[in-house]
Amino acid sequence: MNQDWHAQARDRMVDDLRRKGIWDDRVLEAMRTVPRHQFVLPDTQRSAYTDSALPLFAGATISQPYIVALMTQALRLDGSEHVLEVGTGSGYGASVLARLAAKVVTIETVPELVEWAKKRVPDSVQVILGDGSLGYPSAAPFDAISVTAAAPELPSTLIDQLRLGGRIVVPIGPQSGRQQLRLVTVSDNESGSRHEVVDLATVRFVPLTGRAGHV
Ligand code: SAH
Repeated sequence: MNQDWHAQARDRMVDDLRRKGIWDDRVLEAMRTVPRHQFVLPDTQRSAYTDSALPLFAGATISQPYIVALMTQALRLDGSEHVLEVGTGSGYGASVLARLAAKVVTIETVPELVEWAKKRVPDSVQVILGDGSLGYPSAAPFDAISVTAAAPELPSTLIDQLRLGGRIVVPIGPQSGRQQLRLVTVSDNESGSRHEVVDLATVRFVPLTGRAGHV
């Protein structure tokens, strides 16, 4: 399978994402550009551009392209942002975010995945080993946060690390079974800051571990 084969498969993936309702051309271009086949295990490369999650190792999965696109689109990035991703996994999601933001910090608990991702992400992505369930206070505040593992409830420590006007996308629900992918926007009014919450989709993510996680 050569580069042309992969590029054509990516074009078909993008057509499919558009049919499924992804409308932001910048997000679609990012999805057309990032070589997902380089982030998956060698034996799943053939399936890299089908719209499904694929197993990595250490219990992690690379998220379904539609969900990566939906989460990225919901963050409404204009290229200037400082973004935190919790749950680096392969580094694919961080690389898509990096096409649309100024700087991405991504945090992962599994050392082998940190090494895997570091070899694949662009220079504007910083990969950190650690528990991201409490965010990454030393680089806060962020304009946007993407959480790619399911949290038991809306993580207030992460919301506290958002700038006013900031957005977080996070799957919320049980460790196994279905969760709700939520978009929370922090805005202010006369009585102080408030959160607007929108449900985006029903999803299945691996559990968020760590201090504010499930286990
Ligand atoms: N965004 C990834 C997919 C991540 S799968 C990609 O594009 O490939 C979810 C990841 O979250 C797993 O790698 C898991 O190890 C990680 N994770 C779970 N709990 C975490 C925590 N508390 N802090 C950081 N990473 C965590």
